[in-house]
Amino acid sequence: MKIAGFQANSFVDYKGHIAAVVFVAGCNMRCWYCHNAQILDTDVLYDEEDILKKIEKNKFFLDGVVVSGGEPTLQKDLPEFIDKIKAMSLDVKLDTNGKRPDVIKKLLDEKKIDYVAMDVKAPLDKYDKVTPTMPVDPEILKESIELIANSGIDYEFRMTVVPQFEISDVEEAAKALEGKKAFYLQQYVDHGMGLLAHDKKFFEVAKRAAEKYLPTFVRGVEI
Ligand code: SF4
Repeated sequence: MKIAGFQANSFVDYKGHIAAVVFVAGCNMRCWYCHNAQILDTDVLYDEEDILKKIEKNKFFLDGVVVSGGEPTLQKDLPEFIDKIKAMSLDVKLDTNGKRPDVIKKLLDEKKIDYVAMDVKAPLDKYDKVTPTMPVDPEILKESIELIANSGIDYEFRMTVVPQFEISDVEEAAKALEGKKAFYLQQYVDHGMGLLAHDKKFFEVAKRAAEKYLPTFVRGVEI
C-alpha cells in the first residue's frame, strides 16, 4: 500500500467508532478543491509495517480503521491490507469516489469492509464541474451507488457543496440517490482559492430539496 498519511485516532471519521485513518497516495480524479492534493502524487510514503504496528499498539482503544485517500481502490494490495486490519478484530471503513465499482464489488462480495462512504461530487452528468481533467462516466458511478446501497452493510453518500453549486445541483445529485439511506451535504472549506462558501440559508434550502429523495444531513454548518 502506498500510504501517504496517517492519523492515529479520530472521533469524527467513522460513525460510532474511534478509528485510525490511513490516507493512500494516488487518485483517479482531480477535484479542483481536493483537500488532500499534496498526497496525490507524492513519493514520500510511510512504511506499511510501521503503520500496522502503530495500529496494533492502539487496537485496545480503537474500534476501526478508515482507509481513505487519495483513492484506496487503486491500491493493488488493498484486500491484503484490510485482511491485516481485520486480523486485529477492527472494523474497516472505505472512503471512495466510486470510480472503480469492480473493486468495490469484490470487497463487498468478500465481506472485507464494514462501512462505505462514497463521494457523490456533483450531479452524475456534471462531474466536469469538479474534476475537469479526469472525466467520469456517470454509468460507472451509478453502478457503484447501486452496489453500495444493496450491499447490506452501513453506508453513506456525501457531497462537498462547492460555491459554484446551485440548489438545483444538490437536488439533481439527490435525485440520483433516490430511496437510498443517507446523503450528507458537507461545507466547502476554502484552502486559498478565495471563494466564499455557501451560508446556512443555502444549506437549509438545499437540505429540503434533497430530502424529497432521501434522508439528508448537513455537516460543517449549524442549521
Ligand atoms: S476524489 Fe478525493 S482524493 Fe481524489 S482528487 Fe477528488 S477530493 Fe482529492
